[in-house]
Amino acid sequence: MAVDDTLGTDAHIRDDNIVGISHPDGHSGDHEIVDAHSRIRLVILGGGSVGLTVANKLRARMPRSDLAIVIVDPRPYAQYPPFLPEAAAGSIEPRDVVAPHRLALHGIDVLQARAEHIDHANKTIVLDPEDGPAYKIHYDQLVIALGSVSRTLPIPGLAENAIGFKNVEEGIAIRNRVINRMDIAASVTDPAERARMLTFTFVGGGFAGVEAIAELEDMARYACKSYPTIEPNDLRFVMVEGSGRILPEVSESSGLYALGEMEKRGIEVYLNTFLNSCIDGNVVLSNGKTFESDTIVWTAGIKSNPLLSTGSDLPVDKLGRVTVLPTLQVCDADGNVIPDAWAAGDCAAVPDLVAGDGKFCPPNAQYAIREAKCMARNIDAELHGRPLEDFRHQNIGVVASLGMNKGVAEFLGGKIKLHGWPAWMAHRAYHVYAMPTTNRKAHILAGWLQQALLGRETVSLGSVEDPRHEFVKVAVPSAPPGVIVQQEPIAAAATGVSGVETLAPAAHEHVVAGSGVEDITES
Ligand SMILES: Cc1cc2nc3c(=O)[nH]c(=O)nc-3n(C[C@H](O)[C@H](O)[C@H](O)COP(=O)(O)OP(=O)(O)OC[C@H]3O[C@@H](n4cnc5c(N)ncnc54)[C@H](O)[C@@H]3O)c2cc1C
Repeated sequence: MAVDDTLGTDAHIRDDNIVGISHPDGHSGDHEIVDAHSRIRLVILGGGSVGLTVANKLRARMPRSDLAIVIVDPRPYAQYPPFLPEAAAGSIEPRDVVAPHRLALHGIDVLQARAEHIDHANKTIVLDPEDGPAYKIHYDQLVIALGSVSRTLPIPGLAENAIGFKNVEEGIAIRNRVINRMDIAASVTDPAERARMLTFTFVGGGFAGVEAIAELEDMARYACKSYPTIEPNDLRFVMVEGSGRILPEVSESSGLYALGEMEKRGIEVYLNTFLNSCIDGNVVLSNGKTFESDTIVWTAGIKSNPLLSTGSDLPVDKLGRVTVLPTLQVCDADGNVIPDAWAAGDCAAVPDLVAGDGKFCPPNAQYAIREAKCMARNIDAELHGRPLEDFRHQNIGVVASLGMNKGVAEFLGGKIKLHGWPAWMAHRAYHVYAMPTTNRKAHILAGWLQQALLGRETVSLGSVEDPRHEFVKVAVPSAPPGVIVQQEPIAAAATGVSGVETLAPAAHEHVVAGSGVEDITES
């Protein structure tokens, strides 16, 4: 990739007059804010749960005059994934599960670009914006908050036919797909084709997979009311899980409750089973079952952001996570601090001091947000020469929705277990509380109220997947380069179309020939 070094990027950042402070002996503890005009530049890679939290918490602790904060993310918003299943099922508007960076961040610069290469030795990062050449930025302190991606396997047909369930774009696409396949199934005559359209396969029975299949099945069953030719029994939802149970994040009894709840609703769950292939939607399972499915959703695990293994000089463990100390400072394999680098969230191997035994914190929002708060305090402490604290968090519990009014929840290490409606209410209450920005909380609550009064919205805007399709279909071939296309004003072109009246231009109006634009200046 060609990198435009002349920009030095610093041109894109409001605080481009910032100079990094000196680090006399290169030791991370020797930072010092030298003067009011010489600010430290902190770059945060990733504006999700960790990025957003650490930026806002640090800004509240340190003024702009001391610390310039720059967030880099190819998305213009932070998403809140715990609400993705509900967004996919239409219980929440997709735009309400994201917090736009420009609204949620104050006094923080945002670069909408993808980090392509991290050179911590020289404290530079290569960024690739959506448009234009790649460029470099410089920093004094770096926060790695790059999250995770779907962990896939080279299963035949998977890359070509399946979709992940990691982000809001995928959530919207799956929702559209389910409803769109119901629309198609209601209009085809071939029973095999109809069955294929109405078969939805989810691979992976962890939190994301269980919530996704349960919510979407609930929505599809509700949507059947609008399809006189589709009965709820015509829908086939299949879950494939490689281990002997679903929801490993909760106790065995709560996992069994969720399984029973799903099977009661007709969801087929195959445990101890793997997806062998899905070429052209022909699903082949390791238990010998084969069937046609037009929708395959892959929720079988996550892995750390691959950039950290392929385009960074920071140390990673064998799972590709940045290695950190309990203080969230990046460290090497021997536990030595790599100065001026911090990491947390799904992309970091954060020691779990509460669980002990060399365990690491689980990759979830509950931990990620708390790690980010601890990191903000530690960066502030480090920059002001105060001692750092270790991250330590006792899991407060897990809450999962299994569709409208249904859920499973556990608190205090499983001492308190909730099933059904109380668990569903706990899920909604906790996640509204944790959702970033008051604005989004209010939108979500208003949406739920509206839904309770008016019912659920089950319309598919199928064209959003290919919005240019219709236009491309009717567009005539382009004229060769250099040929001026003769055009006439829109009003004249409409002559002859019944019901359209063409007004002759008044004396003071000049129709600019061929432009389609009316010049209404006085002559
Ligand atoms: C469907 C689903 C349901 C979930 N439910 C729950 C739940 O109920 N409870 C719970 O606690 N957790 C849940 N989680 C997990 C939780 O969402 C994550 O653990 C948490 O968001 C991790 O935060 P993060 O900041 O590490 O990563 P993210 O929030 O994913 O942020 C990473 C950011 O990095 C950006 N990024 C990626 N690549 C680049 C790049 N090259 N350059 C710059 N930026 C980049 C991304 O755009 C993103 O904004 C769920 C996750 C999913 C997918």
